[in-house]
This record gives sequence, C-alpha cells and structure tokens, in this order.
Amino acid sequence: MRAPGKAPTVVAPSRAGSLDLVGGELAWDFTNTSSARGSPAHQEHLRDFDTLMQWVEHARVMPPSDCAHIRAALSHHPRRARRVFDRAIELRELIWMIGTALAEQRPLPARLLDLLSAAHAENLRHAEMRMRLGSYIFVFDPRRDILAAILGPITLSALTLLMEKDLLRTRRCAGQECGWLFFDTTKNNRRRWCEMRVCGNRAKVRAIRERQRGRMG
Ligand SMILES: [Zn+2]
Repeated sequence: MRAPGKAPTVVAPSRAGSLDLVGGELAWDFTNTSSARGSPAHQEHLRDFDTLMQWVEHARVMPPSDCAHIRAALSHHPRRARRVFDRAIELRELIWMIGTALAEQRPLPARLLDLLSAAHAENLRHAEMRMRLGSYIFVFDPRRDILAAILGPITLSALTLLMEKDLLRTRRCAGQECGWLFFDTTKNNRRRWCEMRVCGNRAKVRAIRERQRGRMG
C-alpha cells in the first residue's frame, strides 16, 4: 500500500529501442540511455539485458544477425545475461563520468582513464583485425566473446574520441530534465541543447510561462 497523499511512481516504458542518437559518437549515445541523473526527473532506459540489447541493435553497435546470436545464446542463461548487463552499465557510467568532466572542462582523473584502458585491453583479447571498406578495423565477433562484442565498439569509441577529437566541443545538454552528452559540431561552437526540438523547446516554453507568471504577479 502506498502512503496516503503520495502519487504512485509511474515508470514510463523504456525507449531503449527508439532514443534519439544525437551524441555524435557511439560512446556519448550510450551514456544518453539515462537522462537527468540524480534528479527527480531521472529516466533510465537500460533496465535489464533485454533493453540493453534493444539499444545495441538500435544504435547499430553490431549487425542484427549478431544481436540475434547473442539473444539466442543467452536466452536460457539469465545469470550470464545479468552479468553482461551489469558490466555494460559499469562501462556506461564510467564513460559518463569522463564525458561530464570534459563538458565541465575539468581534468580527467587518471583512475577513470586507467579503467577505460583496462576495459579496452580486455575487449581486445577477443578482437580480430579485418579489412572493411579499405581500412583495417577491430571486429568483435559475439561467437568469440559476447561481452567484448557489446562493449568493444563502445569502449573503442570512447578511446577514439579522447585521442582524436576536439574535446572542448564536448557538451552536456542544458535541459533541466536531460543532461545528455553530445559533440558540438556547429560553426560558432555554441550549441546548448541535445536537440532543439526537444530540450530547446521545453526551455522556451518554460521561459514563456515564467514571463507570464511574472506579469500576473
Ligand atoms: Zn537535452
């Protein structure tokens, strides 16, 4: 029974399979599977192994046939599936801490970088270099290792952006109910919202309401 006068907590369905992929990097999109961390408006879209795989397929971390292979391989192994999910969330929060430090232009603690490097080293044990479209890339085959197939490309995306991207363009959405990470690729380097039509408009509506309230009061 819930306490009288308290609204029931409504958990909206997960949008893991349809979230906007606006981060500009796979690693940022992965962190954006959770919104408004630490606030009452917090929304978690990765809730279990199934929702994780919905996002993996949606964000094209691997081809659908590989996703199907993983789902089939773990369908009768809930504990293994749970472990994969837990490790994925650990990696996501690690990347999120790195991303928010970058967005706030704070130096990255060596501990976080060590953890990311260690994750990459572990994944690499299961990777193969293969030619794709004229250059060599790491291929993570789930038939060799399921965890590396899921986390390998995401970890590599985080490392690649740290080593090759203009980190000063890392942003955290100014939306009160958002906090998504993204790369600002605008010319004037002043993008504030993950998406204008979502968070930008919400802020506009809020500003109008506050102005109206100000006039009435
Ligand atoms: Zn936003």
